[in-house]
Amino acid sequence: MSDTIKYLLDESRIPKAWYNIQADLPQPLPPVLHPGTGKPIGPDDLAPLFPMALIQQEVTTEREVEIPEPVREIYKQWRPTPLFRARRLEKALDTPAKIYYKYEGVSPAGSHKPNTAIPQAFYNKEAGIKRISTETGAGQWGSSLALAGAFFGLEIKVFMVRVSYNQKPYRRALMESYGATCTPSPSDETESGRAILAKDPNHPGSLGIAISEAVEVAAKNADTNYALGSVLNHVLLHQTVVGLEAMAQMEMAGDYPDVIVGCTGGGSNFAGLTFPFLGEQLRGGKKVRVVAVEPAACPSLTRGKYAYDFGDTAHLTPLVKMHTLGSAFTPPGFHAGGLRYHGMAPLVSHLKELGLIEAVAYHQKTCFAAGVQLARSEGILAAPEANHAIRGAIDEALKCKEEGVSRTILFNLCGHGHFDMQAYIDYFADKLVDQHYDEQELAMALAGLPSVSA
Ligand SMILES: *Cc1c(COP(=O)(O)O)cnc(C)c1O
Repeated sequence: MSDTIKYLLDESRIPKAWYNIQADLPQPLPPVLHPGTGKPIGPDDLAPLFPMALIQQEVTTEREVEIPEPVREIYKQWRPTPLFRARRLEKALDTPAKIYYKYEGVSPAGSHKPNTAIPQAFYNKEAGIKRISTETGAGQWGSSLALAGAFFGLEIKVFMVRVSYNQKPYRRALMESYGATCTPSPSDETESGRAILAKDPNHPGSLGIAISEAVEVAAKNADTNYALGSVLNHVLLHQTVVGLEAMAQMEMAGDYPDVIVGCTGGGSNFAGLTFPFLGEQLRGGKKVRVVAVEPAACPSLTRGKYAYDFGDTAHLTPLVKMHTLGSAFTPPGFHAGGLRYHGMAPLVSHLKELGLIEAVAYHQKTCFAAGVQLARSEGILAAPEANHAIRGAIDEALKCKEEGVSRTILFNLCGHGHFDMQAYIDYFADKLVDQHYDEQELAMALAGLPSVSA
């Protein structure tokens, strides 16, 4: 067999286990609390929503969690994803920095989200579940879970934030092509949806509301579970396949990142790329600077409060300690729909509190400018969310130029923008507005945080 054939057949290039950063944390995560009692919840409290395998992954402190063979089998269709050196971008920036990016846009759904949709569908199928309900904003998560549902023969019910449902018909068409059912949220199918519609029949919806509807459907139907595409520990765990591959690929390139950059909505693609490197550092290995880039219009890490809050608007979820803008917050309609969530993953929030990661916020126009610069130098047109990471990486490279030092920068290009062309049309027509977010609005949104003594 030739070396080329051996290389192409080499399955070992896909990791056999995900990496769990909970094994290496200097301080454990604060517990998740029951919304009624204020006491830490146990596995049974989550059993109506999730299969036990995922509940265990939520709390385990084992460093390695084995990737089931059927999941690896599907990962093989697009993994390992490519790691590119952005030589033409480096040249365009005239920077001494070396810039690498991991490209997750090669998955069938076009983003990193199938990395967790596939195992979540797998564990639900194993547990005998027939249907999964979920929410989606711009449609990235909904289409990824719809894909996973098609692979495992599960019915997928998606509550899609109404404003996106109307503005983004192509993602909806993709979900329906995979066989999923898509309902605009708030809907009249759930109590939570009806309560919102009674107050405002034209409510544009929000991720928080769509989550309430999806959770309610799962809680009320024994054959239905709920799935979340970000925020939770098991989701971040599944995404570490990205960083584990990147570590091996950086080694093949004979390099190691000084700075790693990712965009953060709920924190999963950021965690996926950075946690394996942070773990290396926590175990006494090389230090890395890790930068989370979030939208200035939904600035949970940079301007939110680190506090216990609900994950949804109707307060059906447990209380988790995270950076939050308040569960009543309805973010303005900027174009990176996947970054429009009021909270941040507890693990990412915890690392921020421990000083292990940094965070910056950018307005959307400068992010689109960065995305266009990447398209013109590297040829890949990124998702609006990923443009935040590109902006962050370019600014790090420009800092290198100013200081006259070379650093190695790695960022996550977490998805392509082929379903987001209207955003680019609006950007080129100068129709995008940078939403400012003042202190008073922030204080109001935070005033409703639940009081917790823990
Ligand atoms: C969903 C999504 C995000 C935001 O979610 P994270 O959990 O923060 O990764 C970012 N980029 C893309 C392409 C997405 O689909």
